[in-house]
Amino acid sequence: MTADARPCPLCAAAFARVLLTAGPRRMVRCGACGLVYRDPLPAPGPPPAALEPDTDLVRREERVADRRSREFRRLLAAAGPPGRLLDVGTGFGFFLRLAGAAGWSAVGVDPDAQAAHYARTRLGVDARAGTLAAQGFPDASVDLVTFWNVLECIPEPLAELREARRLVRPGGRIFVRTQNLAWQAASFHTTEAVKRLGLRRRLEREPHLTFIFNAISFSRATLAGALTRAGFEVLSVRNSPPIPGDPYLGLGAPGERALSLAKRLVFGVAQAVARASRHRVLVAPSLEAWGQVRP
Ligand SMILES: [Zn+2]
Repeated sequence: MTADARPCPLCAAAFARVLLTAGPRRMVRCGACGLVYRDPLPAPGPPPAALEPDTDLVRREERVADRRSREFRRLLAAAGPPGRLLDVGTGFGFFLRLAGAAGWSAVGVDPDAQAAHYARTRLGVDARAGTLAAQGFPDASVDLVTFWNVLECIPEPLAELREARRLVRPGGRIFVRTQNLAWQAASFHTTEAVKRLGLRRRLEREPHLTFIFNAISFSRATLAGALTRAGFEVLSVRNSPPIPGDPYLGLGAPGERALSLAKRLVFGVAQAVARASRHRVLVAPSLEAWGQVRP
């Protein structure tokens, strides 16, 4: 079957095959480069009514950031001596605050004006609202650019990566953490099988449990391909360690402990597979990649 309309956001090819569907939601695979992307894209939600986020949203964002902070610190430690950092899709600014405390001169960008407002006024970090391209940052002005779980949500990720490439100095680096297609597809097919066992109605009340895809679903190959096309030299693509617990739903302490244990077990298996295949077969829930601009 040939999908209509949306050309591949990585290579612009116009032919793609439907990979999986759930009601009106559909992921297709580019016939040329293999990128898996959502087509059609869902309509964007309404912008927030006020600049001040409500308390529940802030609490949820704090919870997610708290769970991610170990990974934030690991990245900052691995990135070498502090310099100028740009965080794309910076959200409420928690990573910027940690980066600043670690000595980085850090600026963040987020299309969500409410999030950027919170980051500036409550956390005192340099977060700008709007698109990356609209900021007009100078060429080669950044040592490190980071994309934390955000590249998969950007409908045109190559354009975004090319803009990031323009901003990174020679010898500077890019870090991307994103969902992994292999894991997402396996999870999708598992929940589809569970639906057939009679839990369909229950699962369909919570579509985020059954359709866990954003605008793009990267594999090891397409993530490396995206970085290369944008002009980065790929240094590594690996399994990314899991974020402990369940930052979104709040399972209560016993559920959290069980989930953390399950995540560690899954990651242990994924790492064994990765090592046996010399990191060619990556099946963990998330991937992380490092790239650099040739010095
Ligand atoms: Zn393509």
